[in-house]
Amino acid sequence: MADFGFTPGAVLENGLGRTGVIQTPHGEIRTPAFIAVGTKATVKAVLPEAVAGLGAQAVLANAYHLYLQPGSDIVDAAGGLGTFMNWPGPTFTDSGGFQVMSLGVGFKKVLAMDATGLVDDDVIAPGKTRLAHVDDEGVTFTSHLNGDRHRFTPEVSMRIQHELGADIMFAFDECTTLLNTRGYQESSLERTQAWAVRCLAEHERQTTERVGKPYQALFGVVQGAQYEDLRRQAARDLAALEVDGRSFDGFGIGGALEKENLGTIVGWVAEELPFDKPRHLLGISEPDDFFAAIAAGADTFDCVMPSRVARNGAIYTAQGRYNVNTAANRRSFTPLEEGCDCYTCANYSRAYLHHLFKAKEMLASTLATIHNERFTVRLVDDIRASIEAGRFAEFRETFLGRFYAK
Ligand SMILES: [Zn+2]
Repeated sequence: MADFGFTPGAVLENGLGRTGVIQTPHGEIRTPAFIAVGTKATVKAVLPEAVAGLGAQAVLANAYHLYLQPGSDIVDAAGGLGTFMNWPGPTFTDSGGFQVMSLGVGFKKVLAMDATGLVDDDVIAPGKTRLAHVDDEGVTFTSHLNGDRHRFTPEVSMRIQHELGADIMFAFDECTTLLNTRGYQESSLERTQAWAVRCLAEHERQTTERVGKPYQALFGVVQGAQYEDLRRQAARDLAALEVDGRSFDGFGIGGALEKENLGTIVGWVAEELPFDKPRHLLGISEPDDFFAAIAAGADTFDCVMPSRVARNGAIYTAQGRYNVNTAANRRSFTPLEEGCDCYTCANYSRAYLHHLFKAKEMLASTLATIHNERFTVRLVDDIRASIEAGRFAEFRETFLGRFYAK
């Protein structure tokens, strides 16, 4: 246990938002922090050295993808995720639950408001076939790679994540959507809580069995959709949970969240969770979402979006987002963002990026990803600095005013 810990630092006036330091066997993470996503043990298109160079403190990979390919046993034999992918810093793995349960359903994590007219216990987009089936024991699913049948249970997820060897792991939970009924959310939450108990027990077993491996922390995941009573109860239950002398080292805040309620929901959960344990919000990266979630007490974040949109030429700047593919950038010999301290902006022009995208050159993705990841990491770093300096509210107003001015 001595290898993992969280030390809170400066705290906002609301008593929820804070800075802090997460200690892991592979180094510290100063929070709030944006964690770069390396789903398949690579931050797509970018060398690990560049990921470190752009200021990312940790990388998050996905248990589902690495279990199917190359197999978590191979990552284990390589010496764990960090060694396998040549990333010396802290690592996270998510449980695979979200990927498995959303297989084939055709819905994204955060649902558009216009989809809320639908309410059902088995939510599926038109024309899609469900590839995963949930029962009280676990989830049976069909591989997106070759159609093979697989089964994930809390025990299987914990074994996979121990083989992957990340510093921070997540408990296996059921992910619902905002379209599920209240009744379904309640029974799903009971299942997630029962799975949390099984995750802690298997985590203890694996930790004892795998002698000599660096300590791996386990975060419980708070579900409960948009319901205040369910979210608060779930957070209280997970915080109080102790199995074989082991409790959660931190917490994830999961499930579909509407943008409008994001800060409110994170706040409910943060109020119930112990102050001295870190809280990870899964899957957000828009600037206004960062400010809302950090104010409400979230410490770390991950999201594929900054790198995913970069590969299509969408560029984040303090003045908002633009696409470098548009004709306006053809003869623009200025950096992607004036004043940006990233490698791409120090060395290349919009016109060059425009050319690389038009010519479908691989370097386009690399250079655009470096900029967007740097933008995102730096924004969260700047928010941390603003909390430390006691000027969070001022920075929030200035930054968001400029970013959304268009
Ligand atoms: Zn840049």
